[in-house]
Amino acid sequence: MKNLIIRAKEIVTADSVNTIYKDHCVRIQENKITDILPFNISLTTAPNTEFIDASDKTLIPGFVQTHIHLCQTLFRGLADDVQLLDWLQLYIFPYENAHDKNSLRTSARLGINELLLGGTTTLLDMGTLNHQEVIFEELANSGIRAFAGKCMIDINTLFPSFKADTQNELSTTYELAKEFHGYNNGMIHYGFAPRFVLSCSEKLLKETKSMMQDFPKSLFHTHSSENKDEIRVVREMHNKDNIEYFDHINVLDDHTVLAHCIHLNENEIRLMKKNNSRVSHCPSSNLKLASGYANIPRYLKENISVSLGADGAPCNNQLNIFTEMRLASLIQKPFHGPEIMDAITVFRLATIDGAKALHIDDQVGSIEVGKKADLLLLDLNKPTLPLNRNDISLYSTIVYSGDKTIVDSVMVNGEWKVRNGNSVLYSQSELQAQGKEELDKLLKRAVG
Ligand SMILES: [Zn+2]
Repeated sequence: MKNLIIRAKEIVTADSVNTIYKDHCVRIQENKITDILPFNISLTTAPNTEFIDASDKTLIPGFVQTHIHLCQTLFRGLADDVQLLDWLQLYIFPYENAHDKNSLRTSARLGINELLLGGTTTLLDMGTLNHQEVIFEELANSGIRAFAGKCMIDINTLFPSFKADTQNELSTTYELAKEFHGYNNGMIHYGFAPRFVLSCSEKLLKETKSMMQDFPKSLFHTHSSENKDEIRVVREMHNKDNIEYFDHINVLDDHTVLAHCIHLNENEIRLMKKNNSRVSHCPSSNLKLASGYANIPRYLKENISVSLGADGAPCNNQLNIFTEMRLASLIQKPFHGPEIMDAITVFRLATIDGAKALHIDDQVGSIEVGKKADLLLLDLNKPTLPLNRNDISLYSTIVYSGDKTIVDSVMVNGEWKVRNGNSVLYSQSELQAQGKEELDKLLKRAVG
């Protein structure tokens, strides 16, 4: 059995009272945290145990991102400075439609590599229409913790060739869920992923939701209320706003994760609260596509679950939780005052609240005895960071001053994925070369 002790300068636990331990160690056996104890010299020579002295580093829980599109990583920089429906119609749907297995595999690897290097240890991915099994394979190969699912589209007026027959979508999805829910020793769970109201028939949405009964702990993951034009069309189609429509067809509950939720009316806020549905907030994407500002302080006041996601590389153009944390805080302050969305609140959105959104907070999201070892070592000894820290400014150091360059090491489920800032899994030069090659081929297919 693997035994490991990591000594850290500080341990920021994100437990229920935000405990910070100074000069403590965590003991890890196999994939679990079995002890948090003060450093003692005898620990350095504990039998059958590897001792890691990170006494100049800060140990924090791995970050959780609840809205990602791994299939789009290849398209970074190819769809800038347009609004949502044009972005989908002119760029993203044609590009996703042009994926073959090799390009999708490379895109997923690029995304997972970037997420791990930046300290994300759990993600919820939206998937894509075709070759979804490739994304599952790459998630499993990396060992990252994930919810993912085939993106489901049975209506597409924006790009009609990018869709499938309703029954086909449902049966393919069911087969994928049977194969991949609980895959890789439970590291992967199925997240059913109808794209958004405009691309899904009512039958598809309802039958997807009822299919989930066969897959306990799976999620229903879709986009909602992102853009005013989108909402106008939803209203024309269904005579209701987006969340009201979801409530009407009974797809809202506590296993529903909705990306964006920017433009909600009062009744919709009430419905989110009543159904205990989850908001995945993606501030970079919302700003770049000029979609708007989600009233996150209001949702938090109503005790609605909020967590963070980078969305996809072409609408961000990073997959960087540090950027999302910083923006999640800063964009609210002009409206609500400087005290709102303080650094501790935002740090929790990116850790334990993300785990709660996915119903895995009994396993990850904080550093506590009994939880899985999804951990980051941060190097906060940089001249660009605050030079004098107390417990409060430790959070602001991470949230306001931090960026992915402070991520020194990343552990998922007891296994190192990043050490000393370098990926243990991927050669960066090979990934880049493969990415360029696959993107060139994909763009030719997209034009053809
Ligand atoms: Zn998205």
